[in-house]
Amino acid sequence: MRPLENKRAIVTGSTSGIGLGIAASLAETGAKVMLNGFGDAGEIEAIRARLAKQFDTEVHYHGADMSKVADIAALAGTTRKAFGGIDIVVNNAGIQHVSPIEDFPPEKWDAIIAINLTSAFHLARLTFGDMKQAGWGRIVNIASAHGLVASPFKSAYVAAKHGVIGLTKTIALEGAEHGITCNAICPGYVLTPLVEKQIPDTARARGISNDAVVRDVLLASQATKKFVTVEQLGALAVFLCTDQASQITGTALPMDGGWTAH
Ligand code: NAD
Repeated sequence: MRPLENKRAIVTGSTSGIGLGIAASLAETGAKVMLNGFGDAGEIEAIRARLAKQFDTEVHYHGADMSKVADIAALAGTTRKAFGGIDIVVNNAGIQHVSPIEDFPPEKWDAIIAINLTSAFHLARLTFGDMKQAGWGRIVNIASAHGLVASPFKSAYVAAKHGVIGLTKTIALEGAEHGITCNAICPGYVLTPLVEKQIPDTARARGISNDAVVRDVLLASQATKKFVTVEQLGALAVFLCTDQASQITGTALPMDGGWTAH
């Protein structure tokens, strides 16, 4: 029997990048997975079918916009109906905007707080009862090294990710006597579409080349000088969902190539 056989998981923002990597790792270890996120309908269906076949498990998709409370409720409701319960929630959906604070568009601030922070509150709020009733649950929040330290020009993102870590600690305390753990993973830089997109913006904000952004900004603090991979993050998320990790709760775990050791 695989470690997470028949556990029922939602991974938000799992049509791309880290979320997709974590969804694949959960499916590989036997979990049933509800995918979520934006993208081309045909490509998403191909991802869903590939994961289901490759890992011989149930994989569904729900297109909830994680900035909308009603959509988040529909995601929880549909998952509950499809799988008969919800055991694991990975709050991963996130966006980024890079700009000096005096030019930072207020609507970007609102969107980043809604998707990167508030959606995690809503999905935890809406699934906590399922986990409490089962006496077992796992909530894994994908924060960031930027939940622990700041970088210039990322005011909304850094604020949201610090908020995610506070939310994580609170949920951990509320879940502790119900078999529910809640932890935050704090990745360093992972070369996903989210990071690729911010390279030109950071280059513009700092007046340097794209290559210089990768070398001197993104990987400047990452002591290993290597990007973290989605497979490594998937393995950590799976571990946090196992029974061996039942005493790990309320933590913010960096996987950042030594970035926050500075
Ligand atoms: P990505 O752009 O590759 O993926 C983001 C996912 O979120 C996609 O599936 C996208 O469709 C989805 N999404 C965006 N807005 C959404 C919305 N309103 N509703 C539903 N889904 C939405 O990005 P990624 O790099 O894989 O980032 C995933 C998470 O990891 C984010 O929370 C990000 O902050 C965090 N993170 C990323 C890095 C990195 O270096 N890439 C580092 C630390 C933390």
